[in-house]
Amino acid sequence: MSRIVIKVGSSLLVDPAGEVRRDWLATLVTDVAMRRARGDEIIIVSSGAIALGARKLGLAKGGRASLEDAQAAAATGQIALSQCWADLLDGHGITAAQMLVTLDDLEDRRRYLNASATLDRLIGLGVVPVINENDSVATEEIRFGDNDRLAARIGQAAGAERVILLSDVDGLFTADPTRNPDAKRIETVKRIDQRIAGMAEEGTSSGMGSGGMGSKIEAARIAASAGADLIIVSGKHDHPLDRLDAGGCGTLFMAKGNARARKAWLAGRLTVRGRVTVDAGAVKALMGGASLLPAGARSVEGKFARGDVIDIAGPDGTAFARGLSEYDAEEAALVCGKRSEELADLLGHAPRAALVHRDHMVLL
Ligand code: GLU
Repeated sequence: MSRIVIKVGSSLLVDPAGEVRRDWLATLVTDVAMRRARGDEIIIVSSGAIALGARKLGLAKGGRASLEDAQAAAATGQIALSQCWADLLDGHGITAAQMLVTLDDLEDRRRYLNASATLDRLIGLGVVPVINENDSVATEEIRFGDNDRLAARIGQAAGAERVILLSDVDGLFTADPTRNPDAKRIETVKRIDQRIAGMAEEGTSSGMGSGGMGSKIEAARIAASAGADLIIVSGKHDHPLDRLDAGGCGTLFMAKGNARARKAWLAGRLTVRGRVTVDAGAVKALMGGASLLPAGARSVEGKFARGDVIDIAGPDGTAFARGLSEYDAEEAALVCGKRSEELADLLGHAPRAALVHRDHMVLL
């Protein structure tokens, strides 16, 4: 069983006339349903809103002539795009959920936690999240601009093992395969070095979406340091996931480590803002892989906000773990030592189950 993010590029979803390629999409959704049936957890990152909306509104340059055009096209196309995914997934008895996110939602630590918790909950409920950038409100400064990096960030927030970028190119080639017949496909990349980055510059892009090979390599970098493999593969064929499993296509960028690398990244990139001391029972539970619940906490120090990194210390005062706090310092102090049933009354709002969730915690 794995958690997999599948990104679908605009040129696969939308034909040159600006219509959804529904027949093809149906084959992809069948592949998704099959993988879910065998236990995989799937998250979709779908492009295509701008391309679809541009056609509906009759906008020039595929809706990308100006930021205002792109925003209007995205708002118009997104509703049709979601409907399409929802219909096709429903045909397999699968419920779809839409999440539209901006760069800020995944960079800001609080909102990163929110997105991560929502994804987790949706997956727990057996739903397939369908995600796109919230292009209708995203301005130039806060845009990802391409769904390749968005997919990698979502993979990170969801703790995915694998990110698959379904594209109109069949992976990374030593040169542009449309111009150079000697171009060879790279099967596996262990480390993204100068040579690999150089090849990316020669890569191709259909011109419909916004991500070329450069943004795919950036996505691979993000995924690798988050502990997820990333695959770039052509989605031009029917049943693209079956084709991928059959082998002989695409490029695999290997993760730097396992899920522990993701946690190391998580803890390493941020400054520690506070500390919570826990009882011996909580030390044991955390060592065994559990989340830190308020009941196990004894005292709270420091000024930290939800999403900040805090140290977790045992009764002897030694920090043995570190993670993202689900609560602000004041609230954390309030819920310290309290049982889960008491939290809602104390806080006056629906509580977060954990003080530090195990997915956002690393043992030192
Ligand atoms: N978010 C854009 C859309 O839905 C696509 C971005 C991309 O091409 O990667 O149209």
